[in-house]
Amino acid sequence: MSERQPNDKERKCAICGKPQDPGFRPFCSKRCADIDLGRWLKEGYAIPGGEPPPEESTNDNEDI
Ligand SMILES: [Zn+2]
Repeated sequence: MSERQPNDKERKCAICGKPQDPGFRPFCSKRCADIDLGRWLKEGYAIPGGEPPPEESTNDNEDI
């Protein structure tokens, strides 16, 4: 089952709402693509509740 949805008219840039450019889908231009990428990276770096896991290396069982 494959339904084709002719939503080409509804395909707008997720950043500014302009019609998408085939070369920069799903955006209208490289600029908007960069903006989205920047947001994505920011969210990626800004980890909510960023508490690093405690690295406890107390398993020094080298005395066999
Ligand atoms: Zn745009």
